[in-house]
Amino acid sequence: MILQEKRKETTIYFYTGEIKNVLVFREDKVTGNKSIINHARALRPHSIQQHSQLEIAKEIKRTEKTCVFCKYEEHNIPLASKEKRYEKGEAVIFQNLYPFAEKHYVGIITKKHFVNKFKVKHFYDVFLAFQELIENDVRKEYFYINMNFLPPAGASIVHPHVQAFAFAKPTPKHQRIIEGMKKHGKEKWLKEHATKGLQIFKGNLFEVFAVFAPSLNSEIAFISYENKRLKDLNDKELKEISKIITKTINYYLHINPFNAFNFAIYEHKQHGILGFIGLRKPLTKYYSSDRGFLENYHGMQVISVYPENIAKELKRKF
Ligand SMILES: [Zn+2]
Repeated sequence: MILQEKRKETTIYFYTGEIKNVLVFREDKVTGNKSIINHARALRPHSIQQHSQLEIAKEIKRTEKTCVFCKYEEHNIPLASKEKRYEKGEAVIFQNLYPFAEKHYVGIITKKHFVNKFKVKHFYDVFLAFQELIENDVRKEYFYINMNFLPPAGASIVHPHVQAFAFAKPTPKHQRIIEGMKKHGKEKWLKEHATKGLQIFKGNLFEVFAVFAPSLNSEIAFISYENKRLKDLNDKELKEISKIITKTINYYLHINPFNAFNFAIYEHKQHGILGFIGLRKPLTKYYSSDRGFLENYHGMQVISVYPENIAKELKRKF
């Protein structure tokens, strides 16, 4: 089995008791992702049962009373830049109060506390607002727009919002993609996905496909044919990217109205605009994850305990 894991793509079949396992090992030449796919694992028993949809709906209702994003005007939320918040339609962008970067923004995309069917306009408006922010506040940095939807996807607040940040260097996962794209080529990558029957949609600017070696369940990617930047997208192109996101996440929410998801959008002259959207576990009362877009799509961890403190604390116990 160890030998098989080393190959680019291998499928093996075997039984564990009554259970038939189809194990697929895959590696993506551009992203470097290594995935093991086995549908039978989704059927394994779980000690804690899922809550009913009614219970979850009540839980969401409960969080509305204390939601900072519902009444952001009443709270002491910082502006996006020295001068302003960026607002378009229902979307409003401000600086993250608890940032992991000097330029770390939050964009509320709707006035509604909870949405289980998104509109193209939700994303279109926030992207328009981000275009203005990029123009004014982002210089040569690498800029990323991302989303954690619901606590199982790493969100601390239920109210739908996106997060964007700027770094001087590409994030580790993005760096791998830039190098992979340089070696392998975008056209070849797209063609390989199409040949394997993974192509979903061919738009004017973007192609959408199911990812061959995904890092999350039901993952799709979209990539622009032209090597454009987010700030250069025209009205029609902004609508196209918003539509791709909306159609995908509404599909997830159609399967289960409380499904969580992550997405990340990267931009670079090597590959244009590239986005990944992946499914997470549905919302329950007892599960909230600390792994969001940064861990899944950027290969970075945000840690809240300083290692020096843990060393000091544990020293006394040894
Ligand atoms: Zn809210």
